[in-house]
Amino acid sequence: MPPYRAPRGTRDLLPAERPAWRALADIARSLSDAYGYREIETPLFEQVDVFERGVGAVTDIIEKELFRIAPRTEDAEVWALRPEGTAGIVRAYVQHGMQTWPQPVRLMLLGPMFRYDRPQAGRYRQFWQWDIEAIGDAGPAIDAEIIELGLRFYREAGLEDVEVHLNSIGDPGCRPAYIEALGAFYAKRLDELPPHERERLATNPLRLLDSKDPALVRINVDAPVITEHLCDACADHFAEVKDHLDALGVEHRPETGLVRGLDYYTRTAFEYYRRGREGQQQALGGGGRYDGLVELLGGKHTPGIGFALGLDRVILTQQDAGVEVPSVRPPIAVVVGADPGGTAERLRVATDLRAEGLPVRADLAIRKLGRQLEAAAREGSRFAIILGDELSEGNVQLRDLEAASQKVVAIDDLPALLLRKSQGS
Ligand code: AMP
Repeated sequence: MPPYRAPRGTRDLLPAERPAWRALADIARSLSDAYGYREIETPLFEQVDVFERGVGAVTDIIEKELFRIAPRTEDAEVWALRPEGTAGIVRAYVQHGMQTWPQPVRLMLLGPMFRYDRPQAGRYRQFWQWDIEAIGDAGPAIDAEIIELGLRFYREAGLEDVEVHLNSIGDPGCRPAYIEALGAFYAKRLDELPPHERERLATNPLRLLDSKDPALVRINVDAPVITEHLCDACADHFAEVKDHLDALGVEHRPETGLVRGLDYYTRTAFEYYRRGREGQQQALGGGGRYDGLVELLGGKHTPGIGFALGLDRVILTQQDAGVEVPSVRPPIAVVVGADPGGTAERLRVATDLRAEGLPVRADLAIRKLGRQLEAAAREGSRFAIILGDELSEGNVQLRDLEAASQKVVAIDDLPALLLRKSQGS
């Protein structure tokens, strides 16, 4: 057993896995470009207040899962690792006066998030999200743009059967009356509630709606439905979001129990699932509108909407669905030599070819030619460039490791020839 291991709930992503991740990041970046969402980077940690206000003090993320950083001095600010991207992005929006930029400000962030959760399949303590935020647009059209963008990402990642579950959770005008009705409904069935759900009833009754506890799932069938309690403005907004999705040909599934864990959400709330896979652990991503958040973090009232897609779960789902993903690409050629000690020559030739933009490795071990060739073949390299006596006349042997054929080539012709081969002609 090695003495040290990656911390529980984290894992090393080894070279063999990275191309699949890189492909997802490439899709996210190119879609962000195409839709006009510009990349932002925020610190991996923020003042705890940013998350407590921005995510909501009575959510699991803050109560149980926040990775707090022990303060170094008594009067230091208290920090935590970011559990999600939105709060930090909105903090940056306010800090940099982005309300004076053309609105909405469309932003994207790709990076790791941290939650001190109980690790299990698809639930890690460090995981990656692709975040999209549009701040300064009350919708409803942009809600549809963002929902469709998420679906487009899954399609491009090879997951054809991902669908969106959609709800509206009202706003601070109409939600309190709904929460009261919900509270009254649960109060009548208090004896049936498990103890920890009773505690939640006092702090955040909405959370009982998406509980997976079997007792609650039974009770919730009869619970009042939020979309029947929306004020006219919220109901119209919701109807228009759906109209815009219909106009795009995007199917959406109504899900009245979908309230999401975060306090700051208003109106549109959505989550992405593969068809037929509905548990909480199965959500591939989710998002919603947060019209009160900018104000909560010290800006003036500004509507906003965004999503966070979990990349770890996309990778797991690709594996599960047998989606073909890119693998590590070997160098097109390895420079080897008849003289075991001729490492300076091998290094020079490889460096020159790399300067031409070719992925070429040199064998830098002092070992016999046979061993060098074996290593090149094992790595999956297509060619070996063999340096020998011909080098004094400006020539090398080019060995095709797949075809097991070999010919003399002028060293000056190598870049063009390898370029042609690497492009598949
Ligand atoms: P949330 O902000 O909780 O709605 O998370 C958005 C997405 O991030 C989820 O749908 C998951 O795909 C992913 N996610 C959230 N928490 C975790 C975690 N602990 N491990 C892996 N992925 C996660």
